Amino acid sequence: MRIFDPHIHMTSRTTDDYERMAAAGVRAVVEPAFWLGQPRTSPDSFADYFDSIIGWEPFRAAQFGVRHHATIALNPKEANDPRCRPVLDLLPRYLEKDGVVAVGEIGYDSMTPAEDEAFAAQLALAVAHELPAMVHTPHRDKARGVERSLAVVAESGIDPGLVVLDHLNEVTAGPVRDSGCWLGFSIYPDTKMSPPRMVELLRLYGTERMLVNSAADWGRSDPLLTRATGEAMLLAGFTADDVDRVLWRNPVEFYAQSGRLDLTGVDDAGAAAGQPGTGGPGGAAPAGGTFAGNSILRGGS
Ligand SMILES: [Zn+2]
Repeated sequence: MRIFDPHIHMTSRTTDDYERMAAAGVRAVVEPAFWLGQPRTSPDSFADYFDSIIGWEPFRAAQFGVRHHATIALNPKEANDPRCRPVLDLLPRYLEKDGVVAVGEIGYDSMTPAEDEAFAAQLALAVAHELPAMVHTPHRDKARGVERSLAVVAESGIDPGLVVLDHLNEVTAGPVRDSGCWLGFSIYPDTKMSPPRMVELLRLYGTERMLVNSAADWGRSDPLLTRATGEAMLLAGFTADDVDRVLWRNPVEFYAQSGRLDLTGVDDAGAAAGQPGTGGPGGAAPAGGTFAGNSILRGGS
């Protein structure tokens, strides 16, 4: 099973996670810029964070045979903090970088006027830079949040095929499907979507434009729930090709619209899952080396 996790915050995860993910078949990930649990007080913190998710983190992922890309944005929550607003001015420079495959996460947290403004401004940036947009939908008041998000997307003039609305569920999937946008589902250990609920939605809506992610971050989450969803699909009678479509070809198709997705060496359908540190094709990039003088090795090396 080859897996592309289109939404995971690897900066919050350990090398154990990378090892387990590679062994489970995860060969590629997209890391959206988001908030870190604690408020940032200056745009400079964002610049360092953006540099890290397009520099150090792809290097770290490569040590485990995982290809890493990022999306860049001012997240909805911190869009409310006037100290963070100047981050919007930093974005054009980052949206030109090679490993950046979308503008995101944008969208709503509490649906404030400040969020309205940042959301629309960043959709305009996606249009200007010809990039896909990755839209976080709020965890509270979800139905209204999705309705408003779809209205803002429509108003921006961006092609709906370039937009994914994420963190959907049974209530919000239908309207997004009708809009022509892509549907993102975050599978969590004990809230939101679970593998069995995801299987039911795939039965209902089919596999087209459907993306499944772990959204694993610094909170309770599990980077292997993509794999668990693939297994639940097989048990429910979906074919291996259906699983490959949902867990690999769909995210590839969506993010390839950036023109910057580089899966050289990790996208061979026949290759075995990446084995950490073995090098060569099949998902395992050569491990070793350093990034700005730093390696992931510790002790005696
Ligand atoms: Zn996220």
